[in-house]
Amino acid sequence: MGAVRGTASFASISLVLLLMALLHAQGTAPAAPLTLVSRDGRRPLATTIVNGQELVALEDLAALFLFDVREDTLAGGLTVVYRGQSIVMSPGQPMALVRGRVVPLPAAPVRSGARWLVPLDFISRALAPIHDTRIELRRESRLLLVGDIRVPRVTARIDAPGPPTRATIEVAPAAPVTITTEAGRLIARIDADGLDLSGPIEGAGLIEGIRAGEQPRTVAVLLTARAGAAMAVAGETGGVTRITVEVTAPAADAAAPAPPREPAPPPPAPATRPPLQTIVLDPGHGGDDAGVRGARGTAEKDVTLAVARRVRTLIETRLGVRVILTRGDDRAVGLDERAAIANNSKADLFLSLHANAAPSADLAGAEVFHLRLDREGEDARRAAESEAVALPVLGGATRTIDVMRWDLAQVRHVDASAALAAVLDEQLRAQVPMGSQALRQAPLRVLTSVNMPAALVEMGYLTNEDQERQLGSEAFQSSLAQGIYNAVLRFRLYLEEHRVS
Ligand SMILES: [Zn+2]
Repeated sequence: MGAVRGTASFASISLVLLLMALLHAQGTAPAAPLTLVSRDGRRPLATTIVNGQELVALEDLAALFLFDVREDTLAGGLTVVYRGQSIVMSPGQPMALVRGRVVPLPAAPVRSGARWLVPLDFISRALAPIHDTRIELRRESRLLLVGDIRVPRVTARIDAPGPPTRATIEVAPAAPVTITTEAGRLIARIDADGLDLSGPIEGAGLIEGIRAGEQPRTVAVLLTARAGAAMAVAGETGGVTRITVEVTAPAADAAAPAPPREPAPPPPAPATRPPLQTIVLDPGHGGDDAGVRGARGTAEKDVTLAVARRVRTLIETRLGVRVILTRGDDRAVGLDERAAIANNSKADLFLSLHANAAPSADLAGAEVFHLRLDREGEDARRAAESEAVALPVLGGATRTIDVMRWDLAQVRHVDASAALAAVLDEQLRAQVPMGSQALRQAPLRVLTSVNMPAALVEMGYLTNEDQERQLGSEAFQSSLAQGIYNAVLRFRLYLEEHRVS
């Protein structure tokens, strides 16, 4: 009896195991189906979990990707045929023969009723290689992209709780972005067929959170009740669109501390040197040299100083970057002295501010200049690049230093300067009227001697009646300062991307 009871127990255990196996084979649907995204739109694709493996029905795939499934009932083989190409699988074998080559799969095909289930990886490892249509499986985001569609990955992070609170949203591959602000939120609309959004980001500081917007293909940055103004700048570098978001405290909060005499201390030193530590702003003219004077008496030297001070305040309070002015008040400073101030402070960026004049009162708009290299300049650049020499130093060692002719200092920075000028043009364009040929190259003396990326902004024409009124107004000066500040933010991204180390 004991032996019989033992057998009975064994049998019942076996039955339970068999039932469990049957239940498993029937499968339990996972929480979310895959989403198939194609030119025709989005549709769910059901999957099933069997023994911990996520499987998809072969017949569902056959209907979507137009292939035939042939079952060899005698040999038990399973053949997928698509336009003369084949994939062969066998029950019990976690692999597929694709164009005659063995491709491993995480599980063998499983029969479930009249259907065959194959692992999800069958799509990417076996089907995609033989199919005419581009098929991309993104497991983590549960997307199946079919055809030539653009579904960039979107990731967000909070960079600093602040205030100002800074966040970055990255779109890869790059896509055009439109940014709008609504009450309590900032919306980035991304021009793509769909978005592959990582999970919602928990907020910090003045940002409540970052998540998918209510409209398709939008990302929403939600602001807390304490938030003041929110702004964002989008720029593309290295095939990635980066949206830099900044949320400031309301003006009342921000105005509380007096502007510090000393520049704000830089943020805690990261492992690598930040690419943008010191900026030199050069307000044109000063003292006896008033520069251009408008018909109503507005002097260029006053406009340049006023805008430079505004830009300094924005950069120092928001970016914690050191800003040096070549003149902080109304006094004369020579061109070489301005360059010397920039070179001696080892600045990472030099920006000269001016206002323009023209014989015709019709001319208006801002213009951005960077150094032009003519034939002679190109030769000089090559020479400058090669002129590194070893000098003896105390103790008998040598030290390699760059020998640079003072008047050619700028030639090694022409590419970065062109990038700086381009972002200035782009960001000023969003704030103030621009000249018809706003981005220009010229051999400007103040630029040739500075040993760092440099540009010169002619902020508008004082010889134009409307522009003289604008350039003298606080609102317009503030717009100019905002545009320049936005360009500095963008240029910092450029430097981060092109970091030489
Ligand atoms: Zn000037």
